[in-house]
Amino acid sequence: MASTRPYIPVANPDTQAFWDGAGRGELMLQRCVVCQAFRHPPSPICHNCLSNKHEWLKASGRGTVFTFVVVRQAPARGWGDRVPYVVAVVALEEGPHYLTNIVGIAPEAVTIGMPVEVMFEELDGTTKLPVFRPR
Ligand code: ZN
Repeated sequence: MASTRPYIPVANPDTQAFWDGAGRGELMLQRCVVCQAFRHPPSPICHNCLSNKHEWLKASGRGTVFTFVVVRQAPARGWGDRVPYVVAVVALEEGPHYLTNIVGIAPEAVTIGMPVEVMFEELDGTTKLPVFRPR
């Protein structure tokens, strides 16, 4: 699925493994090697135990819609051809909540608790953005 967006995400040392995984079509999550807590967005320190030791694991890509809004008015130039669209928080099976878009369904049909799965929106030929669709 290719699209245009007003900007392309730029990786930093904390997020490089996440974006590399997305480029392969894999949703990657950090997991603390001390307390085993998954976390997202990526960060150098565990929110649970403050350890700086982590590993990257491929997530299942499944979750449920925790909450969402339907954006009907473009928030800035470059978004006009996308409205209406859904901005949602997806509760991933692994635990973290993930801010994303729900695609592949009419915005008015999205419901809280809806099972969703990840897919990858190609942005510029090399960068892919994880978004979610009904499953
Ligand atoms: Zn921890």
